[in-house]
Amino acid sequence: MKDVVAGIDIGGTNTIFGLVDKEGNVLAENRLKTTDYPEINNYVSALANAINILIKENPGLNLVAIGIGAPNANYNKGTIELAPNLAWKGIVPLAEFIRGKINVRVTVTNDANAAAMGEMIFGGAKKMKDFIMLTLGTGLGSGIVVNGELVYGHTGFAGELGHMIIVQGGRDCGCGRQGCYETYASASGLVRTVINLLSEMREDSSLRDIPTSQLTSKKIAEAAAKNDPIALEAMDFTAEMLAFGIVNIISFSSPEAVFLFGGLAQAGEALFAPVRKYVDQNVMPIFKGTVKILPSVISENNTAVLGAAALAWNELK
Ligand SMILES: [Zn+2]
Repeated sequence: MKDVVAGIDIGGTNTIFGLVDKEGNVLAENRLKTTDYPEINNYVSALANAINILIKENPGLNLVAIGIGAPNANYNKGTIELAPNLAWKGIVPLAEFIRGKINVRVTVTNDANAAAMGEMIFGGAKKMKDFIMLTLGTGLGSGIVVNGELVYGHTGFAGELGHMIIVQGGRDCGCGRQGCYETYASASGLVRTVINLLSEMREDSSLRDIPTSQLTSKKIAEAAAKNDPIALEAMDFTAEMLAFGIVNIISFSSPEAVFLFGGLAQAGEALFAPVRKYVDQNVMPIFKGTVKILPSVISENNTAVLGAAALAWNELK
């Protein structure tokens, strides 16, 4: 029998889960629609059932643990708490519910922490003890690893770097405050910057032909690659804001590397080159040249499942 863990990624729309061995191979995978189960008990039954089927279909595999990445997940308590994009209200004791159906160790954390764990166990941070993962999507998620351990903090919610206030009285944030890091340094932050620049700048731009509701970081990165002046200006401003946050983070925990992942990171060198430049210009002299700014090496398709699986394997160490 080969030992495997189940890595589960719970998203607002879909739940993706896979059986993953110790080397990070996803041996089997399936999904179900999270939105089909507005009642948590039905969801837990359906998920446990689907995992059991996956194991039956793959004889020779022995399930030893379950790791779950989910929005607003609390590692310390094994709960999902007040997640705005999920139908289950209040505090859901998810780890306990799953363990009631499948009797193995069950660990939960948020998706950015899971991504950091995936990078540490299976990816580019294998030999690193101190690094930070920033996931640049609709928001900015983060996982902080210090001395080989993810930082969970007193509440279990540590690592909300996306909500560091970097501009006093700045852009409105979904958390109810203003000027948070993620309102500038994320895929949606880039879009907001372009919308501002389209009215401030007079230059011709292919972005003027796209309705603002259809602007994406991908389209902006493509325009930047063709030297569109507004796209270039927006990319540069976003890189600078991203770098300011990174400079502050470096002062906090002196990481060996900062990994960038997600929609915005896919802009590649158009983003990484200016971020490295602005970090270099603004970092404290004692940290100069000590921090690598790197793309995640885990493929975008597998990150969530691999990250959740890495979390489970790490618990068994
Ligand atoms: Zn915020």
